[in-house]
Amino acid sequence: MFYIGPHLSVAKGYLNMGKEALKIDANTFQFFSRNPRGGRARKFDPEDFNALENLMKEHNFHPPLVHAPYTINPASEVEKTRNFALLAMKEDLERLNLMEGFMYNFHPGSHVGIGVERAIENIVSALDEVMVVNLNIPILLETMAGKGTEIGRNFEEIAQIIEKAKFNETIGVCLDTCHVFEAGYDIVNDLDEMINEFDRLIGIDRLKAIHLNDSKNELGAAKDRHEKIGKGSLGLEAIKRIINHPKLKDIPFYLETPNELKGYGEEIKLLRGMRE
Ligand code: FE
Ligand code: FE
Ligand code: ZN
Repeated sequence: MFYIGPHLSVAKGYLNMGKEALKIDANTFQFFSRNPRGGRARKFDPEDFNALENLMKEHNFHPPLVHAPYTINPASEVEKTRNFALLAMKEDLERLNLMEGFMYNFHPGSHVGIGVERAIENIVSALDEVMVVNLNIPILLETMAGKGTEIGRNFEEIAQIIEKAKFNETIGVCLDTCHVFEAGYDIVNDLDEMINEFDRLIGIDRLKAIHLNDSKNELGAAKDRHEKIGKGSLGLEAIKRIINHPKLKDIPFYLETPNELKGYGEEIKLLRGMRE
């Protein structure tokens, strides 16, 4: 099954996201657990949520991916920053507890001067603390472009976090195609090498979601600028190989391209046409 969907806003409720996804022939989607710049999560409306679940069942959706806000930094040891990250993640996971099959994705964070090693220790202890809430939710670490002092710019860092985490059975990875390319993995010329590297260091079984984005920048740029599908440095041929690769094709794909709903719809149509 080819699972593909856009990033949507939860502002108009859960059912509305399902309807928007259907409108553009998507069969999964991603949304922010709360305002991406931080702040509180919207009130939970069980009726609205049940309506979405019914819609998803009826149309064979893959459960959505819930993205944590950008503003949390679990790599930090500054008390205020850390407390906010822990609180937001705990609250998000408690809510996700009510959403069967939904997965939770977060950026590992930035070390902001304390160094990679200490940052990794901080991320691990944050995971150990928040995962006590519930162990059944797949928690995904996103591969990052390496902008600034971001952790997760290579598979070694991701692997270390997973290895050291206490409850790591349910920890997975979300691979962002724009990010890995900008982090220096040449998925245009040698997709297999990146996949083999991922498998060797992390294990391909941990790969649970793919953020399918083209990139505005060149290989290794470490800037994190997403581009529309086929309009950037990856290009259509490389993207075609990604969505059809035997080791990737059954993993759900999420678009985070600079688009409104209509643009997402055009990309989904294009990608469906490129599936083999
Ligand atoms: Fe992300
Ligand atoms: Fe992403
Ligand atoms: Zn990005």
